[in-house]
Amino acid sequence: MTDAAIQLVWFKRDLRAHDHRPLVEAARRGPVLPLYIAEPSLMHAPDFDASHWTFIAESLHELRATLAALGQPLVVRVGEALPVLQEFARRFRFTLWAHEETGNGASYARDKAVRRWLRESNIERHELPTNGIVRRLANRDDWAALWQERMKTRPLAVPERLQPVPRELNVELGAIPSHQDAGLPPDTRAANLQRGGVTAAHQVWQSFLSDRGVQYRGGISSPLSAETACSRLSPYLAWGNLTSRQIIHDLRASYGGASPRWEKSLRAFESRIHWRCHFMQKLEDDPRIEFENFVHVYDGLRENEFDAARFTAWCAGETGYPMIDACMRSLRATGWLNFRMRSMLVAFAAYDLWLHWREPALFLARQFLDYEPGIHYPQMQMQSGTAGHATIRLYNPVKQGQDHDPMGAFIRRWIPALERVPTSFIHAPWLLPPAQQAALGCIIGKDYPAPIVNHDEAVAHARQRIATFRRNPRLTDEVAAVFAKHGSRRRTPERVAKQTVVNQQLRLF
Ligand SMILES: Cc1cc2nc3c(=O)[nH]c(=O)nc-3n(C[C@H](O)[C@H](O)[C@H](O)COP(=O)(O)OP(=O)(O)OC[C@H]3O[C@@H](n4cnc5c(N)ncnc54)[C@H](O)[C@@H]3O)c2cc1C
Repeated sequence: MTDAAIQLVWFKRDLRAHDHRPLVEAARRGPVLPLYIAEPSLMHAPDFDASHWTFIAESLHELRATLAALGQPLVVRVGEALPVLQEFARRFRFTLWAHEETGNGASYARDKAVRRWLRESNIERHELPTNGIVRRLANRDDWAALWQERMKTRPLAVPERLQPVPRELNVELGAIPSHQDAGLPPDTRAANLQRGGVTAAHQVWQSFLSDRGVQYRGGISSPLSAETACSRLSPYLAWGNLTSRQIIHDLRASYGGASPRWEKSLRAFESRIHWRCHFMQKLEDDPRIEFENFVHVYDGLRENEFDAARFTAWCAGETGYPMIDACMRSLRATGWLNFRMRSMLVAFAAYDLWLHWREPALFLARQFLDYEPGIHYPQMQMQSGTAGHATIRLYNPVKQGQDHDPMGAFIRRWIPALERVPTSFIHAPWLLPPAQQAALGCIIGKDYPAPIVNHDEAVAHARQRIATFRRNPRLTDEVAAVFAKHGSRRRTPERVAKQTVVNQQLRLF
C-alpha cells in the first residue's frame, strides 16, 4: 500500500476527454488513473450486441491516444467493476470520479453495489451529473428550467495535462479486448456501421451543422431522405463521444446568421436534444420501466399471448409487409433507422402482431448502434400503448410506404425479391394477380412471404382489447400519477385527465 492519492476516473458511457467534468476535476487534484472496465455481465446481457463493442472499442482506442498525449494513457481492465476496483484499492489509495449513469438495470445494480462498497471502505467518491439528467429530482415542475441552466454552462475543454500515475505503482495499461478476447461473436455488420470515436463524432456533427442540417425539417420522416437529413449523432451521444451541451452551444452560436429555413430546421433539431434528456429522465426517475408497464392497468394486455412465430418473422423482416420488412432489414444491416420508421416497426409488433414490448425491446436494443436505455424503454412503451398516453399511434404499413417511399426505391433496395414488382403493387404485392407474379418471378408465399396478419382485422382486434382495458376505473388515477412523475409540463394535468377520459380513439397514420 502506498500513500499516493490517485484520482481514479471511471469512464462508462462518456468516452471522450472534452466536456468531461470528472476528468477536469480529477486532473486538478493529483495523478490521474483513467479507467475503462469491460464488464462481462453487461457485454453478455441480452441487450448488448457485438456491434456495440465495435463502436466502444473504436472509441477507447482514440481515447487512449488522446489521454496519452495529455500524460497518462487510458487503463483498461476486463472484469466485473467491483473486484476490479477492489484490486486497485488493495494496492493504493484513490478517490473515485465518474459521471452519473442512467443505464439499464444491470448497470444500476452494479453502481449501487460499488457505491455501498466505497462507503464501507471510506473511499471518497464524486459522481457528477451528465448534462440534463437530474438525479433525485423532486418533481418535474422545475426540470425544464434546470435543463436550460445545465445547457447554459460552457462545455469544458480537455485538461491541459494529466499528472501520470507514479511508475512504482506498476499499473499496467491492459489491452483493449478484441471481440474474441471478450468472448463476443464477430461483428458481421461492422463495415456498414457508423464508426466510433470523438473525431468521427465531430465530423458527423460539422457536416450536419454546415450542410445537411438544412434538410432536417421535412426530411426526417422518409427513410430515404432521413439517412442524410437526420443528424446521425445518436451513437455518439449514446456512448458519450459528444455531449448534448456541446451541441446546444454550437447550435445557439449558429442562430442569427442562418437563413429562416436553416434556423427552423436547427430549432426543430434542438428540440430533439431536449427530448433526449426528457426521455432519459423517465428511466432515471423510475428504473422499473425497463421491465414493467408504465401504467399497471395495462398489465395482462399482451403478456400471455406472445406468438413466437410472429416475433421471429418480425425480427427477420419476413412479415409480408414490404415497408416493415425493408425497414427491419435496413436496420439490421446498418444499426440505424429514423424515428418514424422505428415507431412504425414497434407499432406493428404491438398492434398487428400483438406482441408484448419486452422481447421486441431487447431485440431492437441489439440492432440499434445507438441503444440508449433511457430513450429506448420509454419509447418502446409509448409506441406500444402502455405508457398512459391518451392517443395510441397505429401505423398502416401500406400507407406509410406510399407516403414515405412512393416509388418503392427503399423497398427494392432492401428486398431484392421485390425488385421487379411494378410500383403500383410494391406496397401490397399480394394483390398482384398470380399470373403476373409468375411472370415477374416473384410468387407471394414462395419468393416473398404473404402478409403474416390482415392489418384491418388486427387493428379491429387492438381497438377492442384496448377499449376493454381502458374501462378500468383505476386508469384515470394511474395516468395522472404517471403524468405527475414523468410528464412534460407543456401538458397540464387537467388536459391529461380530460384526454384520458374522452379520447378512446386510436390514431391512424
Ligand atoms: C421504439 C423506439 C426506440 C428508440 N430507441 C432509441 C435508442 O435506443 N437510442 C436513441 O438514441 N434513440 C432512440 N430512439 C429515438 C430516435 O428514433 C433516435 O434518437 C433517432 O432516430 C436517432 O437518429 P439521429 O441521431 O439522426 O436523430 P435526430 O433526429 O438527428 O436527433 C438528434 C438526437 O436527439 C435525440 N432524439 C431524437 N429523437 C428523439 C426522440 N423521439 N426521443 C428521445 N430522443 C430523441 C437523440 O439523442 C438523437 O440522436 C427510439 C425511438 C423509438 C420509436
